[in-house]
Amino acid sequence: MSNSFADVNRYFERAASILGLSEAVKKQLETPHREIRVECNIRMDDGTIGTFTGFRVQHDNARGPFKGGLRFHPEVEIDEVRALASLMTWKTAVVGIPYGGAKGGITVDPATLSRGELERLTRKFTAGIHELIGDTVDIPAPDVNTNAQVMAWIMDEYSKFHGFRPGVVTGKPVDLFGSVGREEATGRGVMIATEEHLKSQGKTLADATYIIQGFGNVGNNAARLIAGAGGKILGIGDHTGSYYDPAGLDISGALAWQATHRSLAGWKAPSVQREALVLQRGDVLIPAALGGVITPVVAREVQCSLIVEGANGPTTPDADEILHRRGITVIPDIYANAGGVTVSYFEWVQNIQQFAWDEARVRRELETIMRPAYAKLAEVAQAHSVDMRTAAFIVAIDRVARATELRGA
Ligand code: GLU
Repeated sequence: MSNSFADVNRYFERAASILGLSEAVKKQLETPHREIRVECNIRMDDGTIGTFTGFRVQHDNARGPFKGGLRFHPEVEIDEVRALASLMTWKTAVVGIPYGGAKGGITVDPATLSRGELERLTRKFTAGIHELIGDTVDIPAPDVNTNAQVMAWIMDEYSKFHGFRPGVVTGKPVDLFGSVGREEATGRGVMIATEEHLKSQGKTLADATYIIQGFGNVGNNAARLIAGAGGKILGIGDHTGSYYDPAGLDISGALAWQATHRSLAGWKAPSVQREALVLQRGDVLIPAALGGVITPVVAREVQCSLIVEGANGPTTPDADEILHRRGITVIPDIYANAGGVTVSYFEWVQNIQQFAWDEARVRRELETIMRPAYAKLAEVAQAHSVDMRTAAFIVAIDRVARATELRGA
């Protein structure tokens, strides 16, 4: 279960041909700008040397500095990082924020490292890429298994080489040049995306039932916010446990359990098999974990009529076609989960201006980006008679292509 660069490019190709881009321009836009691979040797707590491999793929910077998260996961490999970097290029373009796209990762299961080892690994990786990142060059952020503490270490390590540049990384702790509202931002954006789509059908968040797969930073904030808006959450799950109750789950209870036990393992609610969660009955399915979970097999059996992609690349292209044929609407990742990078942008703006916004402002500005972006996608989808993913790629590719052309070769 992962993302492949070829899969992202199938989506890219479909939209690029509707736009009538030449083969040369398509190739230029598809090709990653730079790929960095660094060996990270660190002293382990037991005195041995641990060797890890880290990657940073800088996909495109026609519209602004490279931007994108950094994930720590045992399955991280170059092709997936490339795919995710490319998705960032299209994501920042869909919501019209002044960035390109990048992604990084280290092939490691952070659960097997002590806090000290994790810090040394993060610093080693930062030292390995410091010449190629920066607040006007490439700005990392959290992703799977990385958080504000990891960003603080990156900022600190980078500052040893370059002095005080808090905007080199986003998703920092609020006490260290982070932004209020950044942590929940992806989940909030998922809620806004869902709300916009339901609104187009004359419905509100409270009129629908939800299944949320993944209960990390994206899934748990989306669950909290949607439940807070009156939505009934029937199913949730993380890698330790999946739960489904047609009468609705107690989301505050799940959040409280997670806060004390670190996962959903052992939570008292009706449980289902992990693979079965996404197949349960409900209106809206929100995949909010890793890529590739909606396979063709899943796509044939999904019972929800709307899928909102909180994760990056949760749907494989073959599955996407099946969903389309079955009349299931997909709100694509490059729009649906763009709330995170959008508030990263606000954090960076605040860092550059040395001025902190309050939470009300962060939320308001997020809405002013996410809501019109939905309207634009819906308009393009209608104009070209295409699904929302193709519409999102059309909008994004058009913007990146124009910036590229204006810059010249
Ligand atoms: N990792 C997040 C994403 O995939 C956030 C990236 C960022 O804030 O730069 O969109």
